Amino acid sequence: MMDRSKDTKRKSGHGSACGPRYGRNVLMTPGPTNLPDRVLAAMNRPAVDLLDPEFVALAESTIEDMKRIFKTESHIFMYAANGHGAWEAALSNLIGIGDRLLVPHTGVFSKAWAEMARRLGAEIEEIAGDGRSAIDLDAVEKRLRADRERHDPIRAVLAVQTDTATSVTSDIAALRQTIDAAGHPALLLVDVVASLCTVDFRMDEWGVDVAIAGSQKGLMAPPGLAFTAVGERAIEVGGRSDAPRRAYWDWQVRTGDEFYMKFCGTPPEHLIWGLREGLNILFEEGLDGVFARHLRMARAVHGAVERWASSGSIELNVPLPHQRSNAVTTIRIDPDFDIDRIRQWVRDGPGVSLGSGLGPLEGRAFRIGHMGWVNEAMLLGALGSIELAFQHFDVPYGKGGVEAAIDSLGFDLR
Ligand SMILES: *Cc1c(COP(=O)(O)O)cnc(C)c1O
Repeated sequence: MMDRSKDTKRKSGHGSACGPRYGRNVLMTPGPTNLPDRVLAAMNRPAVDLLDPEFVALAESTIEDMKRIFKTESHIFMYAANGHGAWEAALSNLIGIGDRLLVPHTGVFSKAWAEMARRLGAEIEEIAGDGRSAIDLDAVEKRLRADRERHDPIRAVLAVQTDTATSVTSDIAALRQTIDAAGHPALLLVDVVASLCTVDFRMDEWGVDVAIAGSQKGLMAPPGLAFTAVGERAIEVGGRSDAPRRAYWDWQVRTGDEFYMKFCGTPPEHLIWGLREGLNILFEEGLDGVFARHLRMARAVHGAVERWASSGSIELNVPLPHQRSNAVTTIRIDPDFDIDRIRQWVRDGPGVSLGSGLGPLEGRAFRIGHMGWVNEAMLLGALGSIELAFQHFDVPYGKGGVEAAIDSLGFDLR
């Protein structure tokens, strides 16, 4: 047979651009994620008066219950926005022109958050990362120790718990301890968009000042809701911050008992009904059960990829198991293969949507999202479909990835 290994471009795809020819598309992207039927059903209803007492009570219950999700007694602010909106909300409340921020890099998402802060007028101090491992705590401590005597010390550290581009997860509790060990007053702002409800996060116990999240990942709600969870110290700093560009995002105007101002206008009613049902499902399972399930799914994926990797063309992006995400797995592939073409084939043929490589991994990696409403059948189907694609495109891969995933799932069930 001719060697087609470098010839992925010339292989024709199949199906239409709109998805598989038959059966359901399996959504394995790291956000948005699959919506449970119960969430869809909860939203299938007419809009109500925006101060409808039943709706107001339900919306307030979701705000209260988000505290259980973030594990905090602090303030929850909800926006009609996405994760980028939550980033801007946190920055625009806290950061004034010329404020210095420390950003230890973990991938495209730490970079993008830092870039947004720069556009809002902050000065960014960066700690480079290799895009394959967790935040370098020694480097953070060194930088903060050297900084603490300055008259304008670094205002905040921006960290991403799970960077969805690289699938690196960092130890946030240890990061707080590092800031404290350096004796530095910086606030700790953490992006938990991808990690919330996939791995433990304890805002209060870990000493996180602000956590930011979105609705469309582990929370199993549609895209369109953004959250900032804000501790007392950050509220105080926000109150005296001279941040010049905030109105819609302002925590001050959203504090208080007036329901209308909690959303600074009309609440996104249907998204809130959806979120309410997503939370119900999560609490029925229990958060510890949710984390254990995500770990089980992630381990199965890692087992499969490690098997594929024996060919030398495929590799997990994160070598150290304890730094791998429960929510998403980034898989490197020999750049001689046109991975985006392969991904398109998997989507339009067998019908599995996968994430692309981002930033420096563009064209060199793909990502499997395994967060939220994913079961074993979807996971094994996705892994099997990827093997089918490897076969179709003559990508050398170690056989038995699906078997390795089955062994891993079976072991964890024992
Ligand atoms: C998805 C994601 C974002 C961005 O969220 P959007 O809703 O797409 O704006 C930010 N940070 C992380 C870690 C993410 O996974």
